[in-house]
Amino acid sequence: MPPTDFIIPERVILIIILSPISIISSPGTNCSTNGSGGLLTELLVISDFYNMAETLFYIIIVITVVDFIVERTLDYLNTTRFSEQLPKEVEGIYHPDDYRKSQQYLKTNHTFGMLTSTISFVAMLAMLVLGGFAWIDGIVRTWTENPVWMTILFFGIIGLASDLISTPFSVYDTFVIEEKFGFNKTTPRTFILDKLKGWLLGAIIGGGLIALIVWIYQSTGEWFWLIGWGAVTVFTLFMTMFYSNLIVPLFNKQTPLEEGALRDAISAFTVKVGFKLKNIFVIDGSKRSTKANAYFTGLGPKKRIVLYDTLIKDHTTNELVAVLAHEIGHYKKKHTLLGTVLGIIQTGIVFYILSLFVGNPLLSQALGVQQGSFHIGILAFGILYSPVSMILGILMNIVSRHNEFSADRFAATKFNGESLKEALKKLSVKNLSNLRPHPAVVFVHYSHPPLLERLKAIDKTDTKK
Ligand SMILES: [Zn+2]
Repeated sequence: MPPTDFIIPERVILIIILSPISIISSPGTNCSTNGSGGLLTELLVISDFYNMAETLFYIIIVITVVDFIVERTLDYLNTTRFSEQLPKEVEGIYHPDDYRKSQQYLKTNHTFGMLTSTISFVAMLAMLVLGGFAWIDGIVRTWTENPVWMTILFFGIIGLASDLISTPFSVYDTFVIEEKFGFNKTTPRTFILDKLKGWLLGAIIGGGLIALIVWIYQSTGEWFWLIGWGAVTVFTLFMTMFYSNLIVPLFNKQTPLEEGALRDAISAFTVKVGFKLKNIFVIDGSKRSTKANAYFTGLGPKKRIVLYDTLIKDHTTNELVAVLAHEIGHYKKKHTLLGTVLGIIQTGIVFYILSLFVGNPLLSQALGVQQGSFHIGILAFGILYSPVSMILGILMNIVSRHNEFSADRFAATKFNGESLKEALKKLSVKNLSNLRPHPAVVFVHYSHPPLLERLKAIDKTDTKK
């Protein structure tokens, strides 16, 4: 349904491998030549190598800077659409007072986003220019010579450091910003437990996966990309299937839908479209926030639709069935399957390109590390690959927005367009969503079409009926 932000398993691998990059990034060139050999040609070869490493270093800096500029520009474009007065197209959705509140919320989040992104950008540049990654690499090398442990420790240190830096900001976000706008339900206890569980999961799943990939790299040579891809695919499929059984229960309670009017209404609809009622669960989203949501997840026998308790609290039975119909639409149109397949193909491409570059000492050299190593190679590759990743992300968002329209159409034709519209409007107002995002921001970042576009599309479906 609307802003569904649960972790998509196929992204987990990329997040685990590339997350350090988005938070802090890599080091500077250090052109101390330790090559000997008096022959002029040999010197030329060596100097050529270092020139290339230096060029690569500057490319990495440019990518980092351009990425920051693009993101801040998109953010700025969004602010040009803020307004104090209720815009015409939003009339009838937002009450003027709620609208003002939503604008305040957007502005606060914008300012906060500027601050946090600037800090991570500066941290990243500092790490790159001052050779921070080479420094961490040096420390790790004094602890162990085992490449698997080296990689785990290297990414562990970066991950932990960036988490420690970002924690005060997420405390502020949860307990000051979200609190001020009436969203926060997270207790300090829940917050701390979430952190600890997050670290534990990161260590087990992230550490395990990294260990496996390094081990495959060490032992399979030219088949690395194919076997690595296979291993990650198995992991992805497993996580897609069992995410709701293994990961979600660590953070939330999921209960089958209670007996009553809602269950009866839903049952009538699910029988009509052929979806098993036992696959519908209610989750205690109210444990952390008053914001509401619903999502479809899993594959095959492990598929399920999850409704937030906060959603059930505020919507009529018809609206809830409409939301559910939308989620069933995702299932009927095989969107999760499509997403999983696209994710697997993308992982294959990443592995193949990675295998071409990761063994090249130039990558490590570009980050100021003399000795070529897998973890530094991955880090440098991650940054060099980020423009490609951004383009793929945009393509995935285009597919996703297309799927949202298609699930809306399913709900409008099989159930009721008016109820879906009411549900979507209520959700947007309750979550203080931005109803007038800049088209460029939508194009790059939105996995769901903005509300007004969805309402228009549902109207068209309704008139066609
Ligand atoms: Zn959806």
